[in-house]
Amino acid sequence: MSDIFLNIMDRTSIRNFVIIAHIDHGKSTLADRLLERTHTIEERRMKAQYLDQLELERERGITIKMAPVRMIYNVNNSGTPNSEYILNLIDTPGHSDFSYEVSRALEAVEGAILLVDVTQGIQAQTLANFYSAKKAGLVVIGALNKVDLIAHTNPLVLAETRRELAALIECEEGDILEVSGKTGKNMPILLDRIITRVPPPREGNAGPLRGRALVFDSFYDNHKGVVASIRVCGGTFRASDDAYLIGTKTRAKIKELGIFVPEMKPQDMLSDGEIGYIATGIKDIEKIKIGDTVSVFDDARVSKDSLSRYALLGYSEPKPVIFVSFYPEEANEYDLLRQSLQKLKLNDSALSIEPDQNEVLGRGFKIGCLGRLHFEITTERLRREFKIGVINTFPSVRYLVKVREKKEMIPIVKPEELPQEYIEIQEPMIALDIIFPRKYLSSVLSLQKKFRFSKMHTETMGERTKFSAYMPLVELVSDFDDCVKSVSEGYASFSYELKEYALADIARVDLLVSGKPIPGLSRFLPRESLEREARRMVEKLKDLLPRQQYTQPVQASAYGKIVARADIPAIRKELGAFGKNGGDRTRKMKLWKKQKRGKERLKERSDATISPAVFKELLKKE
Ligand code: GDP
Ligand code: MG
Repeated sequence: MSDIFLNIMDRTSIRNFVIIAHIDHGKSTLADRLLERTHTIEERRMKAQYLDQLELERERGITIKMAPVRMIYNVNNSGTPNSEYILNLIDTPGHSDFSYEVSRALEAVEGAILLVDVTQGIQAQTLANFYSAKKAGLVVIGALNKVDLIAHTNPLVLAETRRELAALIECEEGDILEVSGKTGKNMPILLDRIITRVPPPREGNAGPLRGRALVFDSFYDNHKGVVASIRVCGGTFRASDDAYLIGTKTRAKIKELGIFVPEMKPQDMLSDGEIGYIATGIKDIEKIKIGDTVSVFDDARVSKDSLSRYALLGYSEPKPVIFVSFYPEEANEYDLLRQSLQKLKLNDSALSIEPDQNEVLGRGFKIGCLGRLHFEITTERLRREFKIGVINTFPSVRYLVKVREKKEMIPIVKPEELPQEYIEIQEPMIALDIIFPRKYLSSVLSLQKKFRFSKMHTETMGERTKFSAYMPLVELVSDFDDCVKSVSEGYASFSYELKEYALADIARVDLLVSGKPIPGLSRFLPRESLEREARRMVEKLKDLLPRQQYTQPVQASAYGKIVARADIPAIRKELGAFGKNGGDRTRKMKLWKKQKRGKERLKERSDATISPAVFKELLKKE
């Protein structure tokens, strides 16, 4: 059999698909059942949400990273042309802050299972993910999940959800599967559906190259160096080949190539349509770019200069919306922080990183994130995966400031950078969609003032209401998500898209402890709520900061005057060194000591230690 024939044979037995859904609708649990059914994981190694491999994912019960895994499925059903199929599944995160992960996974597959939790119905991310899958041209299989809970579900709601999902996907109601990730109900039917409905990968076109593949993800492995997750889009890659990255013009010998099971498993080759990885041994992390095209070619047949012609489309750059500065807790750990951030970026291409300076905190980095959860997860991953603690500033958005008529607007992220005199400030806006059962309409409307909604509009979607409004992006940094959840008893969900800038009536507020400004605690606040917010922050800080041997005044200043004040009383007896920073007890001893030193260093310089937990508390609205 010729090589080419072999590859074509291979391709028809491959199915590449993702599982997409709103957060907590059961993607990772459904993936468990598929892993079991296909005997991919030995029984004794099986654990819930197996593909959530990061410690943080397991602890928080959420998926942060997409996770590819190859499964082999033996079909005993005579209706399918092949008896054995290669199923490449990519599990995806549900939270909107990680939508860049989802969008990249979509480009590596042909099909999507769209799950809807029957007890929750269609939610904002169900819609957002569905539209992304449709835009990527994927075949979508709709499934109602958690049907083991049907006894607790109103049958009318179930029928309605089925109708809505069928209408969304534009399929027959009878085509919507009922599954349970808990009991494994209807897994054989789901697997059959994947094989019969999801097309095998189209024959790729490598042109004169021997192999061409899309880099859809990457990570750093301590033994293998930089590893690129790839989807082959034409030709083959062999373990003995030299790989060439077209975008970064980098040649490297392939050290190892293989598939995810979900751990890395070496193979001899990867062919057209397959999903796998190549480890290149490249040391310079900058050389691997997500969305780049990796190729193999014969120098005799192709000139390097003509290669850009064969580059795949890749991905559009993610747009960071929230900016925060990170400084190492220990000044001598600046280089470690830089390296750690680079490695993290390799695995989280949505992060943007720029060098930064702060008078008190020294050298650091300005980080751009896709949302508040993304920012929190970033600090946590630094701490756990790289054992480095950071001091951070208030998360901010990018404002535009006009200093003089007819002059260009200046982008400003840090309140400290706001010029003394300016004509106007503009802030980024988002168009927000909130979806919830009808009865919560008035509760959702009650958020209008607090979060500065404008251009409001409501629409009926069956049993649910879709509420649309404009909101300043910066409101997302506060506890908007918690408030939406609490006013709707957990039944509302939202998605948003960035819109244009609008005139903002905001001012800069600084916080001072014992008369000294606390670095990173300055922030922009809307003028109408400035005094109230300032008072609240001062009261909160008073409670959150550790007491000292003497009374410490906490003050807020805006437009050159003090707008709020509270005193931290003195203590007579030494308290626990960490006050209310929370969660410290479980940390490793080494890190604990390091942080203690770092905090002491900060304390010497500014009298106050601000942990991310304190920031989070301060950001809450009441
Ligand atoms: P993901 O965020 O979509 O990946 O959701 P997970 O798979 O992490 O599941 C979220 C929660 O729903 C977990 O507590 C699961 O145990 C639970 N869950 C998932 N599938 C089912 C199901 O079919 N039935 C029931 N009763 N619970 C489920
Ligand atoms: Mg998950």
